[in-house]
Amino acid sequence: MTYFAKQKLSAIALGFVFFLSGDVAFAQQNKNKIDQNVQSLLSKMTLEEKVGQMAQVTLDVITKGKDRFSSYEPVVLDDKMMADVFGKYKVGSILNTANNRARTPQEWYGIISGIQKVGKGRLKIPVIYGVDAIHGVTYTAGATFFPQQIGQAATRNLELLKKGAQITAYETRASSIPWNFSPVLDLGPDPRFPRIWETYGEDPFLTAEIGKVVVKGYEGDDNNVSSPFHVASCLKHFLGYQVSVSGKDRTPVYLSEQALREYHLPAFKAAIDAGAHSIMINSGLINGVPVHADYSILTKLLRDELGFKGVVVTDWGDIENLYQRDRVAKDNKEAVMMAINAGIDMSMIAYKYEPFCDDLVALVKEGKVKMSRIDEAVSRILTLKYQLGLFDKPLTNYKDYPKFGSKEFEQAAYQTAAESITLLKNHNSVLPLSKGAKVLVTGPNANSMRTLNGGWSYSWQGEKVEDFAAKYNTILEAVQNKIGKMQVNFVPGVSYKMDGKYFEEYADRMEEALQAAKNADAVILCLGENTYTETPGNLSDLYLSELQTSYAQQLAQTGKPIILVLNEGRPRVISKFEPAMQGILMAYLPGNFGGDALADVIFGDVNPSGKLPFNYPKFPNSLANYYHKPSESRSVVEGVYNYDADYNPQWEFGFGLSYTTFAYSNLKLSSNSLSADDELSVSVEIKNAGNRTGKEAVELYVSDLYASITPDVKRLRAFEKIELKPGESRTLTFKLDKSAFAFVNRENQTVVEPGEFEVSIGGLKEKFNIK
Ligand code: BGC
Repeated sequence: MTYFAKQKLSAIALGFVFFLSGDVAFAQQNKNKIDQNVQSLLSKMTLEEKVGQMAQVTLDVITKGKDRFSSYEPVVLDDKMMADVFGKYKVGSILNTANNRARTPQEWYGIISGIQKVGKGRLKIPVIYGVDAIHGVTYTAGATFFPQQIGQAATRNLELLKKGAQITAYETRASSIPWNFSPVLDLGPDPRFPRIWETYGEDPFLTAEIGKVVVKGYEGDDNNVSSPFHVASCLKHFLGYQVSVSGKDRTPVYLSEQALREYHLPAFKAAIDAGAHSIMINSGLINGVPVHADYSILTKLLRDELGFKGVVVTDWGDIENLYQRDRVAKDNKEAVMMAINAGIDMSMIAYKYEPFCDDLVALVKEGKVKMSRIDEAVSRILTLKYQLGLFDKPLTNYKDYPKFGSKEFEQAAYQTAAESITLLKNHNSVLPLSKGAKVLVTGPNANSMRTLNGGWSYSWQGEKVEDFAAKYNTILEAVQNKIGKMQVNFVPGVSYKMDGKYFEEYADRMEEALQAAKNADAVILCLGENTYTETPGNLSDLYLSELQTSYAQQLAQTGKPIILVLNEGRPRVISKFEPAMQGILMAYLPGNFGGDALADVIFGDVNPSGKLPFNYPKFPNSLANYYHKPSESRSVVEGVYNYDADYNPQWEFGFGLSYTTFAYSNLKLSSNSLSADDELSVSVEIKNAGNRTGKEAVELYVSDLYASITPDVKRLRAFEKIELKPGESRTLTFKLDKSAFAFVNRENQTVVEPGEFEVSIGGLKEKFNIK
């Protein structure tokens, strides 16, 4: 099938009418036209107008309310504030929702059309509206909610994830919004960090592969974001955000340039090469330098080296943070100077736009920020507005989006949830449970739409989910639908304090639950975390809470088989009671269809196929990644000094069981000796050796056995998800180029060094040599 035929097919499949230019000459013409328009506009703009384009404020600022930080309901735009924001200060961008609450597409249309009417000003420049639509359109009531990124990564299904991004783009435009602050391409190697569930997990290659298809899903295969079905993506948070020493949000990161390039850069580079239109900056500091003030990252690396042409936007209030929090600037003015000179194009000011705008105007007049820097930033912002088609059509209308929240979209979200669920333990094939079983469903996550969704769901911290998601099924409701209410007993045992902090919980009819367990054939124990994100989600103890741990231990004493469902944003340690659980399913934060997907897996209508996107730790002080160094996993050493290192994850990255078994054989390499520029073909046969159809993510790892920098024990270099019927087998062939053998050396150069390597797939291994 040709490229276009394929594109058309997927377009038809989603019911979209795509604008397919495909014509390079046309794209070039279009680019030239945009460049001309931008230059002509720029030549007419005053300094104040230019500076206004570089400013972004949050919606609450321009609505009626008691102050800038909140709005009255229903939300009404405030003419006086708009006159100041748009009329006087010429602000060019708005973000976020009002009152930290989701709105219907109709409300969005009303709000944004009001903004576009007033916001465009003398030169008729449309306002660009940006929002975090991170697992579906976070702040739109009725939108299709997918699993959070961490669960998406567990599916290992790129096609499904691309489709999800297309749907989210469609529904973002249906909400009249053209710009999405997603995907998160931070590496998530630290299970303590409160945003690990916003990442695709700990592996650089997996993150890069998903990042590329998600950008194409948001922006279209040709990145033509003027299509009313696509949005501009925004990669975040550049760079090295989630590896703070403390494990807490926005606290210091110490990172060598070598590690930055080896682990953190590849996903951003891949997504930039895939055409992403914008990027958001890491809110923290690396080696003592706030990234928002770091010229070497924002300009030398991002612009000069990676060739990024799009818009660089700050994270929330991060210019102010340069003096108020991080103290590298003595006042706001110095902070603005540092950030803009380092390479920021747009400031997500959030609330106090006056000091940003006034200070930047003054800095240009004083010659401390060059006009050329302003022109460069404003050109990029105007270019994005043209590329998005906003000059012709400043807002899209929900009426043109009949598929918003449709069954078809919901089915895609369900499928993603179903493929994300990861079977971690199945002692004596306790799963799937018989549909005739009498079950006790229990635990703080058993009857909660909030915990299935996690943060960034209808509100920032996820606390308003129940107001919007009542029509979907919790785990309890889905189990009741599956086997009938009569067979299902529900007693919470433990509950979260809904108006408290995410970690506050209490015993809730625990004695009654323990009694009820005795009368059940099996217990479905739903444990995990309540919702959080960012700093409010900081964690002090990686063990699952004491109360939940002790509840699980007491339930185990009833002797009934327990199916533990983990509904959590990060892998909380469960080793104190894991041996007493017969079955364990990792659900991550599976979204609005997570309950249905779980019930289907528990009772055997779906064969689980998720694979862990991180190492699941067994102890809080033992947090190695799967790609650790050899010294972290030494085996017994001869002699008196035995340096046997205890590498002891509960489960490793890539682990995930099925109700069937897959047998791997015939691992073959096209050559055992090659030069670095040669392609290596690796083939392997996979057979479904069990008696159920199943999906298997086949993963290929490469180990560089000796190198000038101690090599990682292994690295994921290719993967593919396939489906096999019982008895069916298939041979997969992976083609590896030098990127699969390379690493970043001491001089921060990506190199391939000659020597011995090993390929491993499904427990099979083969060595080869690079000359
Ligand atoms: C987060 C970003 C987000 C931004 C806008 C910040 O607090 O770090 O990920 O895009 O807010 O909502």
